Amino acid sequence: METPNISIEFFPPKTPEGTEKLRVARQKLAELQPKYFSVTFGAGGSTQQGTLDTVLEIQSEGHIGAPHLSCVGGTRESIRGILREFQSHNIRRLVALRGDLPSGYGGAGELRYASDLVEFIRQETGDWFHIEVAAYPEMHPQARSPQDDLQAFARKVQAGANAAITQYFYNPDAYFQFVDNVAKLGVDIPIVAGIMPITNYTQLMRFSEMCGAEIPRWIRLKLASFGDDSASIKAFGLDVVSQLCEKLLAGGAPGLHFYSMNQAAATTAIWQRLQGSRTSA
Ligand code: FAD
Repeated sequence: METPNISIEFFPPKTPEGTEKLRVARQKLAELQPKYFSVTFGAGGSTQQGTLDTVLEIQSEGHIGAPHLSCVGGTRESIRGILREFQSHNIRRLVALRGDLPSGYGGAGELRYASDLVEFIRQETGDWFHIEVAAYPEMHPQARSPQDDLQAFARKVQAGANAAITQYFYNPDAYFQFVDNVAKLGVDIPIVAGIMPITNYTQLMRFSEMCGAEIPRWIRLKLASFGDDSASIKAFGLDVVSQLCEKLLAGGAPGLHFYSMNQAAATTAIWQRLQGSRTSA
């Protein structure tokens, strides 16, 4: 059976301890042979150096590192500078986003949407970068309507995106519907499913509230019923997310992108479960 095509996301650590922990996690996650590791970028460039440093470390270990780049709060000039820096380090892959500014941060910047950023990157650097963009099977929370959001996604592809990674979700039908709907708009790039392992109920609820990902009622109730029994939350989370991944791959998803939260255990456990079910199938 074929090994699933995976990629793994980190955020740039803020402390030397965090950096060391991430090194250890990365070493374990490298055993899963991901296609690349991506590193998030704080809105307004707040983690710019941390993002680059982490990507460079990933590259020095012999893996492909893909920085995220968000345009909100930036100028054409500042983004041009970042692109040049990426090129000077032979970075060939990036994830292009609008980003979200914290309230009170100031102006939105010169490029308003991710489609403007993709267009700018192509103007400035031609085909140098493999560009991934974000997709929202359950609709981006600020979109005026699902149809508007699909159009916005199609615009990013028309502007030159090579592939997409979805926001996380726990309902596979939302993903398959999204893929069908954008195909009707002529989109034929790979749409990799974003996967958030479940390890902590409170954290999951907080993130999902912010990014508009729906936690199905039955999953929410079950997680809540475990209280602070972390082992049961993790075991249940492993079952739910592994089954989700199996359905996605069986239904034709071209790959899985794990939001690792800089931890190795949950992503590794899901991957091993997938390997087990594939070899026994
Ligand atoms: P866009 O594609 O620009 O869409 C934003 C909103 O504008 C949507 O509601 C869309 O429907 C609407 N829209 C787009 N174009 C138009 C138009 N022409 N007219 C009207 N409305 C329009 N955030 C970070 O800050 N750093 C990260 O590293 C980061 N990594 C991420 C990685 C992934 C895989 C995902 C899924 C999200 C990530 N995010 C990150 C979060 C992301 O920045 C937010 O979800 C943000 O709110 C939207 O970014 P976008 O690139 O999807 O924006």
